[in-house]
Amino acid sequence: MQAQTAVNTFVHETGGWVASQLEACTRCGMCAEACHFYQGTGNPELAPVWKVELLKRAYEQRFTIIGKLKLATGIDHHVTDDNLLHWSKIVYEACTLCNKCSMVCPMGIQLGPLIHEVRTGLSAAGMVPADLMSAVHKQEAEGSPLGVTDSVYDDRLEFFEDEYEIKLPVDKKGADTLVVFSSIEIMKYPGNIAAIAKILNAAGENWTLSHAGREVVNFAFFEGDNEETVLFLKRIFDAAKDLGVKRIVVTECGHAYDAIRWTAANLMDVPEGVEITHIAHLLGELVRTGRIKLKEGMYDNGGTITFHDACKIQRRGGHIQEPRDVLHVLAPKSFKEMIPNRAEAICCGGGGGVIAIKEADPYRYAAFELKVDQLKKVGASTVVMGCSNCRLQFDDCVQHFNLDVKVAGLSQMVADALIE
Ligand code: SF4
Ligand code: SF4
Repeated sequence: MQAQTAVNTFVHETGGWVASQLEACTRCGMCAEACHFYQGTGNPELAPVWKVELLKRAYEQRFTIIGKLKLATGIDHHVTDDNLLHWSKIVYEACTLCNKCSMVCPMGIQLGPLIHEVRTGLSAAGMVPADLMSAVHKQEAEGSPLGVTDSVYDDRLEFFEDEYEIKLPVDKKGADTLVVFSSIEIMKYPGNIAAIAKILNAAGENWTLSHAGREVVNFAFFEGDNEETVLFLKRIFDAAKDLGVKRIVVTECGHAYDAIRWTAANLMDVPEGVEITHIAHLLGELVRTGRIKLKEGMYDNGGTITFHDACKIQRRGGHIQEPRDVLHVLAPKSFKEMIPNRAEAICCGGGGGVIAIKEADPYRYAAFELKVDQLKKVGASTVVMGCSNCRLQFDDCVQHFNLDVKVAGLSQMVADALIE
């Protein structure tokens, strides 16, 4: 029954698209070499092309003579609930939807989006890991997967204002820019809120936060539930419309940026005339145009500084150069690149909802071993990033692997270096 629901969803969502994509596969294995979960474990079932095998089977069995013949002769079998369990494990626990596999595939097969379609089918069949579903349910019921309810949000705002001696504009009609934080920042990295407020004030930006649109993380997007993804996105878009802003700035969260910047337009009507950008882009723009001034070389005496490219902000979002421009001001002598970097960077292994799933820990740590290797090779004392989900993964893994590396957020480094 669950298998039928999943298969119907696969076929409905992907149709002939999956066939035209996967029939081009030459089994060259390049996508496997690009996947940090496959590389970290050596497990062939974690190869990207295997993660989408269910879609191929569903399409073949439903629409092709070969698929029907394979079934009739026993060469292939109908998709079963056990199959769904297996794929649920590999596409939720061992895939961050980082999309590096799509980038390297010589046949141009869009493996990342196809894996997201596998998640959509599994979500329809109710085969989503319990930890991830519990975060989705919390976001439905309370407006946030980390419990940032209305009253918690008010308490946190009061705390930020007292602790960091900063005034935070909330629900300010006529503001140009709506700034949307993730609950990871609100609950775990409060310094980010203070830092970004300080930067925007220094730049003279007319900005606001929103009560109704306070949470930009989208756990339904991780799950693959498109309807619910839209519901969570709508909260932000409605807040933007209500406040009449011209721009939405997503702070340090990569998947939230992907959902609102790229995915939303494929799922729903998005407000016209509202620019959506990421704080990494804005920081680059503020420095380039001289709207904020930074103490040059401020971080040059603390050992090697390197930058971790977040898959959804750099590879997907294209904000590759801006953080580097900023770091070349902050640490011109000690900034060094990990290899590979930029669009080819290795994912941290914690995105796509993986870090929220306890059973995924062994995969998550195995994938991070590739980052350990990169950090050691570059001799990093500090690793900087612009995604708080990556930062959670780095903070946890630095402890797990006992690394002597400081983990830093880009916005906080900028705020600390402001010349006011
Ligand atoms: S890289 Fe592309 S062509 Fe090669 S095995 Fe993977 S999906 Fe197939
Ligand atoms: S999207 Fe990233 S994590 Fe997922 S299979 Fe492809 S390379 Fe691996």
